[in-house]
Amino acid sequence: MNRQAETPLISVVMPVYREGSSLRSVLDVLVEVLLSLKESFEVILVDDGSPDDTWVVIEQASMQYPVIRAVRLSRNFGKESAICAGLEMASGKAVIVMDGDLQHPPQLIPEMVRLWRESKADVVEAVKDDRGQESFVNRIGAGLFYSVFSRLSGYDLDRASDYKLIDRRVVDAWLTMGERNLFFRGMISWLGFRHLKIPFTVPERAGGQSGWSLFRLIKLAVTAVTSFSSLPLHLITLSGGVFLFFGMILGLQTLFNKLTGKAVSGFATVILLLLIIGSLLMISLGIIGEYIARIYEEVKRRPRYLISEKLERRVSEK
Ligand code: UDP
Ligand code: MG
Repeated sequence: MNRQAETPLISVVMPVYREGSSLRSVLDVLVEVLLSLKESFEVILVDDGSPDDTWVVIEQASMQYPVIRAVRLSRNFGKESAICAGLEMASGKAVIVMDGDLQHPPQLIPEMVRLWRESKADVVEAVKDDRGQESFVNRIGAGLFYSVFSRLSGYDLDRASDYKLIDRRVVDAWLTMGERNLFFRGMISWLGFRHLKIPFTVPERAGGQSGWSLFRLIKLAVTAVTSFSSLPLHLITLSGGVFLFFGMILGLQTLFNKLTGKAVSGFATVILLLLIIGSLLMISLGIIGEYIARIYEEVKRRPRYLISEKLERRVSEK
């Protein structure tokens, strides 16, 4: 057995969900680029419980490309968990995480590898210079999320993508983070190390359709915010303080009116206060609830994903 085949220089981790129709051509492009590097590599595909023929396509492709290793998750665990499964499997000295729909162009890989080697960057991040074809709602939503996230957590993820080359040191550090609520981009930026950015333009999907509904995006955004910042909780305290301040002023005024015999009236004020305080309390409870939900999910300590099938590299090649 060839030792080099054991620990490749580069592992490409690709989470795939419902990509059956285009995966084959995506792999052809990817492998061609990787071969042109003239380095040892492996391709790790994580089938995130796709209901379509994605796994069959993977099995067939692995016949042609022995560099493919793959796992099939027992159900759809979401992209973040799928990336986690891939990172745990990867053995390369550098790991490249990319989408399986060619929206992260493989043509960028040689440049990423060059930067990693020559400038000793630990993380080479591909950042979107243009968010590509996206719906208006997605664009606004993403803009809002990134500005809130960076203000709350202090990590600027604007235009960041999951397309990254990560050095082994950073992968190992990432793997020590034990949380269940994963947010890959944020976690990588939390780790620190030396980051380099290269811009890219997001092309059209290679085929199939996006696996992200608006609801899932919102869920990911909430996970991201709650696991990277406790500021919303402090804001509740702060708003309580502000309300106390105004409450005191209003209280004094009411008392004064009462003493000078000018009481009654002020119905509108009462209703307004009731409504404002009522909704503020509800929102506050909701925010606290989000954090409790996260704590609950974390303390259960369930596995982050479950594997139902595995395809290891056939080490026949020398
Ligand atoms: N993906 C996944 N699990 C999911 C949804 C998506 O592994 O539940 C993968 C998908 O196969 C693709 C990547 O995550 O490789 C990005 O997904 P998609 O292209 O649907 O997202 P978009 O580009 O629209 O943000
Ligand atoms: Mg995509």
